[in-house]
Amino acid sequence: MATPLVIRDRNVMRKLILTNRTMGRRIGFVPTMGSLHAGHTSLVDQAVAECDDVVTSIFVNPSQFGPQEDFEQYPRDFDADFNLLAQHDVRWIFAPDVHEMYPPGDSTRIEISGPAEPYEGTLRPGHFSGVATIVFRLLQAAPSHAVYFGAKDWQQVLVVRKMVHDLKLDVEVVTCPTVRDTDGLALSSRNTYLSKSERKRAPTIYAALEQAEQNWCQGLAIDTIEQKLKDMLSAKEIQIDYADIVHTESLKKISEVSPNTPAIFLIACRVGSTRLIDNILLPSQALSSC
Ligand code: AMP
Repeated sequence: MATPLVIRDRNVMRKLILTNRTMGRRIGFVPTMGSLHAGHTSLVDQAVAECDDVVTSIFVNPSQFGPQEDFEQYPRDFDADFNLLAQHDVRWIFAPDVHEMYPPGDSTRIEISGPAEPYEGTLRPGHFSGVATIVFRLLQAAPSHAVYFGAKDWQQVLVVRKMVHDLKLDVEVVTCPTVRDTDGLALSSRNTYLSKSERKRAPTIYAALEQAEQNWCQGLAIDTIEQKLKDMLSAKEIQIDYADIVHTESLKKISEVSPNTPAIFLIACRVGSTRLIDNILLPSQALSSC
């Protein structure tokens, strides 16, 4: 496998990609904040399988962190990320510094309503404006045919899709499944914040989501399904920010189990001081698929 080329400059990145596009190559793009794990590399692997060249960005985006959040603390290890990406056939690593993406005095932001409003949008004001702004700028620097996102950040996918639709961006948004540790915990760069005892409790999040899926299949009432999940997490002293069964696209709360409603159970919670999000898609169409 060839060693990835590291690019720090937006215009250099853009020219390289445009040149390769004119040669007929299909370009796949995987935006990340680094501290890479098997969840990220699953996106890279899918992009490599579907495209001729893959570019991965590593950029801890300040504008998506609130003032009290973990921007400074966020784990960064460029060498480890580089070595991992080198094993996954990435051709380019786009790793700009903050001023490259936000020139001094920068004040331009993208604001999205609809999917950016509830849940993470309410609890993390400005978060999705920061996400949309950086994804737009990254796509300008890396004008790719397809951009890959993880289903773990379900609302983020909806926000990016909305931006791509509204601004008529010429890129396909691909959603990839959540990669989990063997005990079910969704891989996340923030898992490194967990103490040993918190790490032991954290798999309860997915266990509770799986229990909810079973209860959904058995036709239990929505309130009951949600309450059972909350009880399971409370028993492990996991604090819930939200835990709602919602429509997969509108994010509106669902009030009745229905075989034809595409539903997802969204959860955000805190294990100690670490905030984690997860979700599970609930079987639709025929409940017999349960
Ligand atoms: P991040 O570096 O946390 O901004 O994540 C970069 C991309 O990786 C986003 O599209 C995430 O949804 C995706 N991602 C993060 N964790 C996972 C995971 N466990 N499985 C699949 N994709 C993930």
